Amino acid sequence: MKRFVTAVVKHETNTFSPIPTPLSNFGHHGSEPGPISGDLALRAYRGTNSAAAAYIDIADQEGAELVFPIAANATPGGCPEDSLIDHAAEEIIAAVTAGCDALFLDLHGGMATPGYDDPEGEMLSRIRAVAPDLPIAVAFDFHTNLSQVTIDNATVITGYRTYPHIDQYETGARAGRTLIRAMNGEVDPIMLWHSLPILSHLNKQTPSRQPMKDIMDMAIAAEAAGDVLNAGLLGCFPLADIPFVGMHAIVVVDRDRGQDAGEALLRELMTMAWDRRAEFVFEVEAVETSISHALSLGEGPVLLADHGDVAGSGGATDVMDVFEEAMRQGLDDVCVGPIWDPDAVAQMTQAGVGAEVTVQLGGKTDFPAIGHKGRPLEVTGTVRRITDGKFTVTGPMATGTQQNMGQCAVLDTGRAEILVSTARHEPFDIGCFTHAGIDPSAKRFILIKSRQHFRAGFEPIIKHVVMVSGPGITTSDYGQYPWDRVRRPIYPLDPETPPNFPPAWQQK
Ligand SMILES: [Zn+2]
Repeated sequence: MKRFVTAVVKHETNTFSPIPTPLSNFGHHGSEPGPISGDLALRAYRGTNSAAAAYIDIADQEGAELVFPIAANATPGGCPEDSLIDHAAEEIIAAVTAGCDALFLDLHGGMATPGYDDPEGEMLSRIRAVAPDLPIAVAFDFHTNLSQVTIDNATVITGYRTYPHIDQYETGARAGRTLIRAMNGEVDPIMLWHSLPILSHLNKQTPSRQPMKDIMDMAIAAEAAGDVLNAGLLGCFPLADIPFVGMHAIVVVDRDRGQDAGEALLRELMTMAWDRRAEFVFEVEAVETSISHALSLGEGPVLLADHGDVAGSGGATDVMDVFEEAMRQGLDDVCVGPIWDPDAVAQMTQAGVGAEVTVQLGGKTDFPAIGHKGRPLEVTGTVRRITDGKFTVTGPMATGTQQNMGQCAVLDTGRAEILVSTARHEPFDIGCFTHAGIDPSAKRFILIKSRQHFRAGFEPIIKHVVMVSGPGITTSDYGQYPWDRVRRPIYPLDPETPPNFPPAWQQK
C-alpha cells in the first residue's frame, strides 16, 4: 500500500502589521489553540473547498494511506515566529522519513518570519535534504511571493487562479493529478517560471477582471488544451517588505515534449503583464468622496468596501474613520462589521441584550510603520444580540469550512447595526452577519472591511460596490509604507523600472 503525506501550513504575512501571530493562532474551529494533525485535520478539511481536501480525495482514489502530520492556518497579520517553520518542517520530515511515496502540500506562500524571508522555500529545502527523490506537489495561494529555492525543491507547483479564491480544491487537484501522472511514468515534470519586478496592487490583481483576466485566461487555455501540464500566474502579496515580491508565472511542462511550448507561453504571459503594468496601479480616492458617491446611488444594498483595514491582508479591522464619515454624511439602514474590539464585546455582554450602552469602539491599534495612532469612536446604541461568532461557510469561497470570529455582539445605533467581534475576520461570506440575526440583503448599505474576497459571498445580494480607501495597515496608498528590503527597481515605486526578460528562469 502506498503511503502519502499531506500538510497545511498557511499564513499571509503583512510585514508592516503590528498584530502578533503566535503559534496558538494557527488553530482550527472546535480544537485547542495551535496546529492540529491526524484525524482532527482530516475531519477539518475533508469535503471542503481546499487543496487539502483534493489531496485527501486523491489518496482515496489511489488507495493510499494518508498521513496528516500538521495543519496550521492563521488569519493574516504580522510575522509568525520562526519556531512555526521549525516545528512544521520537523513534523513533516518525521512523517516523510517514516515512509512516504509522495508529499502533497497546501501552503499559502505569502509568509515571512523574522528569521526567514522565504519560509516555504526553507521548509521545502529541509524536506528535500532528507528526501532527495520524493515527489512533492505544492498548491499555493494566488498571493504567493515565489522564490527560486521554492521552485528548486518541489516537483509540481500550482496556484489559485481566482481572487476571491474559489478554486482552492481545484488547485490542489491540478497539482496532485500531475504528480500522480509523474509517479506513473506518464510525464516528467519540470517547472519554468519568471518573476517580474511589478508590485501589483491587490485591488487590481483579480483574474476575473482586467488587466489580469486576459493574461490568466491565456494560462488557463494552455493548460486546458494540454500544451502544458499546468500554468498560472501568482499576483504576489505586496504588503511584505521582502525580496520576493513581484508578479510571477509558473508553467509546468513535460521535460521531453513541452519545453518549447512552455517557454513560449511563459514569455507571452510575462510580456502581456509587463505591457499592462500601469493598469495594475490603483488610484486612491478621498474617503469623503467615496461615501458621497455611495449616497448618490439608487437602489441598495450598496456595499462599501473599506480596503485600508482588511483582516485578510493583516489589518486590525478596528479603524473607525470610514464608519465615522459614513455617519457624518447621514448614511442610514447600514450593517457594519465585523469590528475587532474584545473590550467592547465584553462591555456589551456584561450589559446584556436590550441594554443601552456607550462604548469607545475600535481604534485600539497603533500602526507605527505608517505613523498611524489608533483613535476609538464613542458610539451609543442598544445591544441586540450576543453570539459565539461561529458559522459554517455556505458561499463559494472556502465552502463548508468552520469560521470562528470569537464571541460577538451586535450594537444597534438606530441607523447602523454594528457587529463587534473578539477575533479578526474578513467578511467573505454573509454567514458572518446572518449568524447574528442581521440580514445584509435587506439593508440599504453594507459597510465592511474587505477588498476582493467579499465578492464571493456578497456579490449575489448587492446592487453596487463602492471601494473606499480608508486608513490602516492595509492602506491602498503604497507610498505610505516604509519600503526597505523589496528588490529595486520595482514598478511602480520606481516608474522607470526596466523589464527583466529574457531569459526565462528555470528549475535548476
Ligand atoms: Zn490570497
